[in-house]
This record gives sequence, structure tokens and C-alpha cells, in this order.
Amino acid sequence: MPAFKTVALIGIGLIGSSLARVMRDRKLADRIVISTRSAETLKRAEELGLGDAYETDPAKAVVDADLIIVSVPVGASGAVAEAIAPGLKPGAILTDVGSTKASVIQQMTPHVPEGVHFIAGHPIAGTEKSGPDAGFATLFDNRWCILTPAADADPAAMEKLSRFWSACGSKVDVMDPQHHDMVLAIVSHLPHIIAYNIVGTADDLEAVTKSEVIKYSASGFRDFTRLAASDPTMWRDVCLHNRDAILEMLSRFMEDLSSLQRAIRWGDGDKLFDLFTRTRAVRKSIVEAGQEVDLPDFGRPAAHPVKP
Ligand code: NAP
Repeated sequence: MPAFKTVALIGIGLIGSSLARVMRDRKLADRIVISTRSAETLKRAEELGLGDAYETDPAKAVVDADLIIVSVPVGASGAVAEAIAPGLKPGAILTDVGSTKASVIQQMTPHVPEGVHFIAGHPIAGTEKSGPDAGFATLFDNRWCILTPAADADPAAMEKLSRFWSACGSKVDVMDPQHHDMVLAIVSHLPHIIAYNIVGTADDLEAVTKSEVIKYSASGFRDFTRLAASDPTMWRDVCLHNRDAILEMLSRFMEDLSSLQRAIRWGDGDKLFDLFTRTRAVRKSIVEAGQEVDLPDFGRPAAHPVKP
């Protein structure tokens, strides 16, 4: 794809810095301007050589930008849109990467000046790490990126943004923001909430000691701790900004959990076996769809030495 002349990255954590790295590696921008809230993170981005220019004032960072990507916690989207609005030039494409979409659109849209094309987006790619050191250029490879344009979005801007994400390695889907929020509530938000909850429960237990939880964690607990180590600010904001969809999925989940509890209490082995067979097939489909590799340790190289 033809490179954008100037891309402004507002927020340079895991996602922003991964975008900076992939843009640099695949030459997707002639110039990358970076802005972030704290002087400390901006300095780190500069040390890592993530951009061509660094700005503390977000409005100055976007002045010449043809593409502006906002990568901040979803609760900060409105304030960031307001801060950059005076610098946005007509014809520029403004997008974001937030994990919830209806709320981000509601927060940002009132600040978007006439002539600027705002198309919200969400790359379904990430890790439990945060900050500019955590990013890597291949993060988006073979992962979906969902765009949630308004009904009257500019087709040329949509095309350009889709091609940008494809060049970053993603497969692009288009969705209604409310539908996005419902889908993500089950595939991402609920799993994180369950992980936070189970790790919190284990941490509160008195009958089983903390050292036992850690010592025997490879029996299953460890896989939840990866999700439960995710950024607290990001996930607080996701919970607060996708409240309705998460509450709906949580009530479905609790109903199903009660049914599972009943099956265990009444010794209904057939029910348990049928459910566990069905769920095993779900993982097989995810592997077949290329979204996971069929290796132990959840697809991660088991290279880390196991301490005796
Ligand atoms: P991150 O690594 O924690 O980085 C957050 C960035 O946002 C930093 O530059 C930080 O600036 C800035 N920021 C934090 N609070 C802010 C505020 N109140 N106002 C303005 N800027 C603020 O986060 P991330 O993982 O890149 O996530 C960024 C966005 O991507 C979030 O909306 C998240 O929902 C979405 N997302 C995340 C993942 C994932 O797996 N992590 C995946 C897909 C989408 P300072 O460091 O300078 O304070």
C-alpha cells in the first residue's frame, strides 16, 4: 500500500508501540510522530527509536498527520479526542484501537471536526504486558482487526484504513459497534473477568496456603494468571465501558455455572462428559482457524527453565 506521509500515534504502550514497530519495519509511513501523556513514557519511546518526532502536546503531534491512531485506555478516549481536535487537518483519518467500541464512539465523535474521517477500530491482538517496551512488530500478524464505521463513513477512508491494517498483518472485518461489544464481551472480557476472579479467590483462600497455590500452579491455575496479570487500568476501563454486554454475558455464565454445579452435586457424569467433549472441540476449531498452535503451554515456547 502507498505509505501515509505522516502518522501520529497518540499513546505509545503495547499497541501504539507495536504499530510504530510494524510501520517502521514495513515502511507504512514516511514519518511517525509520537505523543503520550507522561514525559517518562515519551522519553522511553525516543530511546527505543519508535518515531521520527516526539511531542508532549497531542494537538501539535497531529498537525500534519494523515492518519492518527489513538491507543489509550478506553476511558480516556473522549479527553484525548478533545485535546487533539484543534490540530486535526481536514481529510485526515482518525482511528483508535480501544477494546470497547460503542462507548469510544460516543466519547470521541462530538470532538471530531468537520472534514476529518473518524473510523473506530479494534485489533484483536495483545498480550498481558503494557508500555512501549512490550510491543513487537508481528503482534498483528494473522489476527483480526475489527472496524466499526458509522453508516455514513467515507468509503475511500475506509478502504485506506483497511489496507493499512492488512499491511500491518491483520485480517479486517467490519461490524456494528454494539455487535462488536457483545462479541468481545464473551470472547475477551468475560474470560478476563473470570481469570481476575479465580486468581483473586485463590489469593483470599485460608485453607490452602499461598505457597501451595504457587507451587502447584501448573495444574491449571497458571493459565488463568496470564490473563489476570493484564493491565489494571485498561481492564477497569473495559468493565466500566462495556457494562451492559458484560453484565448480560455474566448472567448467562452464572446460570450455566449453576447448571454445572448441579451436575457435579448430583453425579451427572453424562452431562459433564458431554460438555467437556463439546468444549474440547471448540479449542480444536480455534487451532484449525490458525488463532492458536497445538503446542503445550498455550502455544508459548516452553523455553523458560523450570526451577527445581
Ligand atoms: P498500555 O500499554 O498501558 O499503554 C497505554 C498508553 O495510553 C500509554 O501511552 C499511556 O501513557 C496512555 N494513557 C494511559 N492513561 C491515559 C490517560 N488517562 N490519558 C491519556 N493517555 C493515557 O495500553 P495498551 O495495551 O497499548 O492499550 C491501549 C488501548 O488498546 C486500550 O484502549 C486497550 O483497550 C486497547 N487494546 C489493548 C490490547 C491488549 O492486549 N493490551 C489489545 C487490543 C486493544 P503514559 O504511559 O504516558 O501515561
